[in-house]
Amino acid sequence: MASQDDESLREARARLEQAGDDPAEALALAADFLLLAERMAGKAEKLARIGDRTQARMVDLNRRLRQQEERYRGIFENSTEGIFLADAEGALMAVNPALVGLLRPGEVADDPATATPALAGDVQSLFHDPTDYQAFAQKLAARGQVRRMEARLATPRGPVWCLVGAALVEPDGHVVGMTQDISARKALEEELLRLAASDPLTGLANRRGFFEGAARMLGMARRCGTPLSMIMLDIDHFKAVNDAYGHDAGDAVLRAVAGRLRESLRVSDLAGRVGGEEFAVLCPGTDLAGGVELAERLRLALEDMVVTADCRAVKVTASFGVAQCRDDRDAAPSACLTRADRALYAAKRGGRNRVCLESDGSLGPGAV
Ligand code: GH3
Ligand code: MG
Ligand code: MG
Repeated sequence: MASQDDESLREARARLEQAGDDPAEALALAADFLLLAERMAGKAEKLARIGDRTQARMVDLNRRLRQQEERYRGIFENSTEGIFLADAEGALMAVNPALVGLLRPGEVADDPATATPALAGDVQSLFHDPTDYQAFAQKLAARGQVRRMEARLATPRGPVWCLVGAALVEPDGHVVGMTQDISARKALEEELLRLAASDPLTGLANRRGFFEGAARMLGMARRCGTPLSMIMLDIDHFKAVNDAYGHDAGDAVLRAVAGRLRESLRVSDLAGRVGGEEFAVLCPGTDLAGGVELAERLRLALEDMVVTADCRAVKVTASFGVAQCRDDRDAAPSACLTRADRALYAAKRGGRNRVCLESDGSLGPGAV
């Protein structure tokens, strides 16, 4: 579209062609040209100023963009948290040095010499457990982000517990992910759980640990339809041991009894110290007769044992009660333990150092 100035120029030119030799006409025309030229020069100057300002703005914008990019690159390169960037299909596009250090220790992050990325593949390959990845992907698809998910990431030296977060970045649907190594915290948690479930004196499961393990075993026996028997034992006249030899000697006896139990049991059996001088044993795949046989073996092993405490030989015996856990009666392991306990007290009443089964049929020393 022709501008107003173009139009004025065309008009002036037409008038010049039509103008004769009239000097007044020529003068008027010259004045018009002059005015027009001045106006156009002014506009050109204005345009140049706008151009300069636009260029300066673009230079500034470019500088700010570069600054911002440098800032984000600085965060990416120097973050102590692992960061990854993946495309909409989940293929890894970039992985920061912290994540390479965590998952491929000793390797150079994106080695420029060989142009090989330290971590190639897709987001799924970062996860040790496929079900963890599925949960991660589902959350990301449903909410557009994943916050503080605990998952084990895959490394050549085994899985590492991490806190994983991620967000979808529009418009491309790229994924920015963050990972934080929490393996030290997890190890501490596991150690605390182990300590909370074990007896510091004997190293066996404590009452809580025993019942947790027993509930798992009871569930397994129920699912598999296999027998499970419970043995309960209590050291005879233990108070007299403490009184005669001292509390430390009593402790040494408790440790020695636990050691004998450990030596005599299968790895699939579970032994726990469920009271002061009371122990319980759960034997999967063992029926009542098998439980009684094992209890008798344990009784003999304890009877044979000599504990040296403070240069003195201490000998103890124990009484045993055996019960078989039953589907219909033992919803919880404590129900079975109560029946084994009842049998144990029958053994105590019967004279101690003997095995009794839940039907109260007593087996005296050496009677099996
Ligand atoms: P019984 O044959 O009827 O079982 O008699 P007992 O003396 O073994 O039973 P009682 O219940 O009278 O005494 C149990 C003793 O066990 C009393 C308690 O001081 C002792 N005891 C409990 N826990 C510990 C421990 O951790 N260390 C030591 N040394 N003794 C303990
Ligand atoms: Mg007792
Ligand atoms: Mg006792």
